Amino acid sequence: MRNKINRVAVVGTGAVGCSYAYAMLNQGVAEELLLIDINEKRAEGEAMDLSHGIPFAPTPTKITNGHYSDCTNMDIVVITAGLPQKPGETRMELIGKNKAVMQHIVSEVMASGFNGLLLIASNPVDVLTHVAWKASGLDKSRVIGSGTTLDSARFRYLLGEYFEVDPRNVHAVIIGEHGDSELPVWSQVDIGVDPLERYLRRRNNPEDKQALQDIFEGVRDAAYEVIDRKGATFYAIGMSLTRITKAILNHENSILPLSVYLEEEDVFAGLPSIVNRGGIQQILMPELSEQEKGWLKQSIQTLKEITHGMELKTNQ
Ligand code: NAD
Repeated sequence: MRNKINRVAVVGTGAVGCSYAYAMLNQGVAEELLLIDINEKRAEGEAMDLSHGIPFAPTPTKITNGHYSDCTNMDIVVITAGLPQKPGETRMELIGKNKAVMQHIVSEVMASGFNGLLLIASNPVDVLTHVAWKASGLDKSRVIGSGTTLDSARFRYLLGEYFEVDPRNVHAVIIGEHGDSELPVWSQVDIGVDPLERYLRRRNNPEDKQALQDIFEGVRDAAYEVIDRKGATFYAIGMSLTRITKAILNHENSILPLSVYLEEEDVFAGLPSIVNRGGIQQILMPELSEQEKGWLKQSIQTLKEITHGMELKTNQ
């Protein structure tokens, strides 16, 4: 039995925030969930609706709605507030609208005396994680973006579907920007205990090369495809955020492709990192092929141009 009460606040009770809260409730991850939204009535309604499911949850969770001043004792504040992409809109095009929202939210959270971890999902997530870090004054290890966790899940799912193996046995990451310049680390993909190259050699299927290229493009463009059909993406990011939250609260030292601060480049970007209750413990730069190195450089350059082009309100 846990003797520590895990407290998590969610700012933004739209599609992503509520999918996260729903996944958290169903997986019994935290004892307390606080919902905050500029639309207070909506947050209240969501807290009521979710609470009505508590008798069917694996563990008791107290779900309330409230204000930034209630964030004082939270272990994690997860920020999913802001405008989502419209059909055809890139994540980067959201920066103008979502930067001010992020700065406002983080300064309100910090004013409560909050001293936990910030987990950012709002897009463009790498740039907004930088905005949140600057506005918070927290150590870089304690401000984390969801990064390419969702993209990597999509990658593993599509590879698993193609090779007809459980995606949990596919070890593969997407790194860089959570967006159009992201890249697959093909050189480090493992299917079970086989490096991809050996697995492909054994299959000897001439269609694999094109299929793998299509899979990556499917990952990179997945959000556009889903948004085109249903207007938004929210369930899988809700589950991705839940996975990250578990790694933090359960002190797992899990390796996840999170958006983390790269000192030399002065940007946040998605890279496999060890995460636990203290936040980011170590960034694990994979060994990349020359081609992958070039792609990553380009992706980081894209993030640098946007991040460094912004005027950042700082609390540091
Ligand atoms: P949504 O419109 O359904 O919900 C956004 C919520 O934020 C609304 O409830 C709104 O009232 C609230 N909000 C807006 N301004 C606020 C403020 N100043 N303070 C508090 N709350 C405020 O949008 P959504 O579909 O839930 O998407 C939310 C964000 O998540 C978007 O930026 C979207 O692009 C992003 N997203 C990220 C990923 C990822 O992998 N990181 C995946 C999907 C979506």
